[in-house]
Amino acid sequence: MIMNEVTPEHIRAACERIAGKVERTPTVLSQNLSERFGVPVHLKLEHRQTTGSFKLRGASNAVASLSAADKAHGVVAASTGNHGRALAHAAKLEGMRAVICMSRLVPDNKLDEIRRLGAEMRIVGNSQDDAQREVERLVAEEGLVMLPPFDHPDIIAGQGTLGLEMIEQVPDAALVLVPLSGGGLAAGVAAAVKGLSPMAKIIGVSMARGAAMKASLDAGRPVPVEELPTLADSLGGGIGLDNRLTFAMCRDLLDDIILLGEDEIAVGIRHAYAREREIVEGAGAVGIAALLAGKVKVSGPVVLLLSGRNIDMALHRKIICGEANAECTT
Ligand SMILES: *Cc1c(COP(=O)(O)O)cnc(C)c1O
Repeated sequence: MIMNEVTPEHIRAACERIAGKVERTPTVLSQNLSERFGVPVHLKLEHRQTTGSFKLRGASNAVASLSAADKAHGVVAASTGNHGRALAHAAKLEGMRAVICMSRLVPDNKLDEIRRLGAEMRIVGNSQDDAQREVERLVAEEGLVMLPPFDHPDIIAGQGTLGLEMIEQVPDAALVLVPLSGGGLAAGVAAAVKGLSPMAKIIGVSMARGAAMKASLDAGRPVPVEELPTLADSLGGGIGLDNRLTFAMCRDLLDDIILLGEDEIAVGIRHAYAREREIVEGAGAVGIAALLAGKVKVSGPVVLLLSGRNIDMALHRKIICGEANAECTT
């Protein structure tokens, strides 16, 4: 039974394992969004996590759970950036070798960070699937241990620690909006939140350009999607045709999935900056964006998970100035 692989107990154990290795991030009330929507709207500021995204939670839990023998071999992963950066950081803390494989679509600012953390990088092909083939080669030929970005029980449990924190911080949360790509975050958060607060609803939010989990759930099985450039680049990539955990968990635990256009995501990034004074990347802004796009029905306290901030600052400036040229003088 799939659900037993990542239980609330597993998530609680992850919480103890990663304490001291990751930040406990604040949850704040958005005055602006609360007034606009007539319910308390809370922002979980996880984009302020060390390495700039929640991915450090899963990576730290997975690395800390390895056997001594596996630690000696080192770890390898395919990543659109944030998982790679988090794994590089977590491996460095443990004094382990880390190799990160990624496609050419990954933005330069993310590459620089991973390089700075001392991990080895392999840049291959134009899709996550190409990067994944390189991972499999390194596992077979060099004995490295693969820690995938989402479809792994220790990764999901690590991301799930966010759900425990959210319910501690907002015990009466009625609705949680979670950015959704491969589904490690949504599966972990949903398992934790529904374990503590079974009536709470969890909605996943993806970009319309290449929403792999949505396409797969609609098809009833994991399907490939074309990877396209998007402002929410951290949500790109497939869910893996041999998906073991996150497909079933998202199917069983998510109440709905919302898809957003690029303009709607840009509005979310602008709102985060101008109204909340927060710099977030596209993937981190989709909860705010879904609300502002009028795509969610709210009837009680809402928590929006701001998942990351690793956006190229030149791009961020362009988005902020995009529709306000008169006010943007520099
Ligand atoms: C990876 C990532 C996501 C999506 O997480 P999944 O577990 O793949 O669904 C969302 N936001 C940011 C910033 C990410 O790095």
